[in-house]
Amino acid sequence: MSNECPIPQLTLDLGFPPGKISLYLYKLDSYNLLIDAGPYIPQYIETLEKKLSNEFGLSMHDLTTIAYTHVHVDHAGMSGFIAEKYPSIQQWIHKSDADFFKIIETYWPESVKNSGAPPDVLEALAKQHYFYQKIRTPLSVTNQFYGTQTTFTIGKKIFEVIHVPGHSPGCVIYIDHKNEIVLSGDHILDKISPIISYSSETFDGLGLYLQSLQKLLKWKSYTFWPAHGNVITNVEERVKFLLKHHDKRIKEVYQQLKKKEITTPYELIPELFEFDLPTDQFSLAIAEINAHLYHLQHKGLAVKINKTQWKVAE
Ligand SMILES: [Zn+2]
Ligand SMILES: [Zn+2]
Repeated sequence: MSNECPIPQLTLDLGFPPGKISLYLYKLDSYNLLIDAGPYIPQYIETLEKKLSNEFGLSMHDLTTIAYTHVHVDHAGMSGFIAEKYPSIQQWIHKSDADFFKIIETYWPESVKNSGAPPDVLEALAKQHYFYQKIRTPLSVTNQFYGTQTTFTIGKKIFEVIHVPGHSPGCVIYIDHKNEIVLSGDHILDKISPIISYSSETFDGLGLYLQSLQKLLKWKSYTFWPAHGNVITNVEERVKFLLKHHDKRIKEVYQQLKKKEITTPYELIPELFEFDLPTDQFSLAIAEINAHLYHLQHKGLAVKINKTQWKVAE
């Protein structure tokens, strides 16, 4: 296994957390495929254009296809802009993320509002939400992936596309068997535990994420190239670490529910995160706690008693 990416990797500054994103480029006969694109930030787009031109002699007009790993703004925020400015580019995403996009603007403010956070925190989170709204154009894909496993052919190149729901409902990874690499988006990262961005009474985001992690072991001899951070050369070890992390947190959330008679996701933050959390991290903490609460609910161990409050199942 090599630490050098066998295909061109374009790493760009995002200007907001998690800091940098890596896109992957395939130049295949008359096709130019980019895995992920980026947010709708003029300076970012300018840098991307420069990089394509200086390093690969390509302009945006030369791109034929963009395949997204998932719908998050740092990956697909410029989708609508691309559709408008470069209509010949084919854009692909999984159907579940195309569906998720329809509620993405309302889901997040709702779950923050229902977390039990006080007004000053809600205000700070509303500002953060406004920032993300500004850097997202409408998702405007031309093609969708369906089901749990499919192939994706560009010229003579065939990728296996595996649906790995959890980080988002329609996350996919692209498997390039010839190079023995997996382009894993945000599904697995070398240092960060990916957030579970959608969970509800009918959708156990964390449960699906844990299953999706297990799927990766099938390609444990491959090298995993993520969208943020460093290459993962030992995916088995990383999967085990993340499974253990969530197992511990599931138990912690359950213990806290047992201890408090009735609680809100917001009240659980200081119990589960040791450090003094900066306000802009609250949204991540709320997503993490919600994912664990809904997972416990799906296992029959927790009950949501109203929009905001939770208790342990009797
Ligand atoms: Zn993401
Ligand atoms: Zn990302």
